Amino acid sequence: MSEKSKLIEGRTGPWEIVLGLEVHAQVASNAKLFSGAAVGAGAGPNTQVSLVDAALPGMLPVINRHCVEQAVKTGLGLKAQINLKSHFDRKNYFYPDLPQGYQISQYKHPIVGEGEVIVEHDDGSTFTVRIERLHLEQDAAKLLHDQDPNATYVDLNRAGTALMEIVSMPDMRTSEEAAAYVKKLRTILIYLGTCDGDMEKGNLRADVNVSVCRPGDYEKFRATGSFSHLGTRCEIKNVNSYRYIQAAIEYEARRQIEILEDGGKIDQETRLFDPTKGETRSMRSKEEAHDYRYFPDPDLLPLELDPAWVKAIEATLPELPDAKKARLQAQYGLTAYDAQVLITEQARADFYEAAAKGRDAKLTANWVTNDLAARLTAAGLDIEDSPISPAAIAELVQLIEEGVISSKIAKDVFERMWAGEGAAGEIVEKQGLRQVSDTGALEEIIDKLIADNPGQAAQVKEKPQAIGWFVGQVMKETGGKANPGVINQMLKAKLGG
Ligand code: ADP
Ligand code: MG
Repeated sequence: MSEKSKLIEGRTGPWEIVLGLEVHAQVASNAKLFSGAAVGAGAGPNTQVSLVDAALPGMLPVINRHCVEQAVKTGLGLKAQINLKSHFDRKNYFYPDLPQGYQISQYKHPIVGEGEVIVEHDDGSTFTVRIERLHLEQDAAKLLHDQDPNATYVDLNRAGTALMEIVSMPDMRTSEEAAAYVKKLRTILIYLGTCDGDMEKGNLRADVNVSVCRPGDYEKFRATGSFSHLGTRCEIKNVNSYRYIQAAIEYEARRQIEILEDGGKIDQETRLFDPTKGETRSMRSKEEAHDYRYFPDPDLLPLELDPAWVKAIEATLPELPDAKKARLQAQYGLTAYDAQVLITEQARADFYEAAAKGRDAKLTANWVTNDLAARLTAAGLDIEDSPISPAAIAELVQLIEEGVISSKIAKDVFERMWAGEGAAGEIVEKQGLRQVSDTGALEEIIDKLIADNPGQAAQVKEKPQAIGWFVGQVMKETGGKANPGVINQMLKAKLGG
């Protein structure tokens, strides 16, 4: 349970926010949920449509085994109950983006039951979001309103694509927590390979339920399980970026508080977030809400899973983010923060582990998460496409570890590696960047400096920090290549600082 509820001061006293999310995740699959039509962006309009998707009379849906497997895999990844028997229902409504006149979904008996997600706050502390259920359903088609001033076009390519709807309990208490939850969920789905997590394309999007209550009410809800302790919620549909999720929640909570403080009451309704105005506005109220007249789809048998098949799927699960984070900390002695940054992307963690073999683990983590990450971001590259390989980073780290180059020179070497000038060792030799630890060469420089600057030298006796000036001068003379540890020692011996 989150300890981080934030008080919002109102005119009539403090308020708290309560948030529950319904996340729609497009199942990673080459074919649709009940037809063999292809799934994928970029195809011409209405080219990925089977007779089932177009809902021609007499067509029958056939469940796609792969989509079921993906849902089971996701359920296992969310440490959730897998229901060996589930049902598909018809959710009836007329809308031009759904030729069937109903959506096939799962209502009372979803394929996945209760689970949980452990989520990180920015400061590294964690909280748990309970998952209520995950069910499979069809996506609708796309309506295009901007192709013609007098007509709406429909592209059925998306119709029938498999979605997983992942419903959380109302366990988030701030807009940051809601965004962090979606982020974590997305990472888990990408690790599992069950959704590509592309929010820009809408392949992962959230319906955000927002309510406000007085301090203490949420604790009563948790103690009793009764939703009556919570305020009336509004649901903000289809928000597809972390920033919008946060902005929509902040706006919506203030709107509700204002209404309540003016003595009004909240209508349970569906709202839309307008990113340009930063506001939510009503889409439909509960009174106008559809009566979906759910009933079991007579075209589909109940879905029964073989426990052995579920076990076999479980055996294919990859190491998931939480486990990977714990292992990186234990195996490499990394801080929770470094481990967290590395596991955010599976490929980044893999890159790190390949580079860290036999090297200073912390130093390697710094190079991967700072310099390399910054360069990749600036170039818009994924770590899989990094022009610098894990072995190349390892070589650079080794040169630092062995004192061949200083950390400062290493930055220069790294930039040259990025520019394609070769491997670290090669660059060091070619550019003559080897750190000068040779006391003979340094002694000459130091003696001359002391002789030329007797005033500064005398100062060191009273003010030992003054030695820094000499260190700086030696660095300057050697083009940054002197070993700072060695210079310090030599200067102390000579000046008695
Ligand atoms: P519906 O289909 O009506 O949207 P669901 O049960 O599918 O209902 O989803 C309800 C969502 O709203 C869940 O994520 C739940 O956690 C959340 N929720 C329920 N009550 C509240 C509340 N008072 N405040 C905030 N979120 C809530
Ligand atoms: Mg809903």
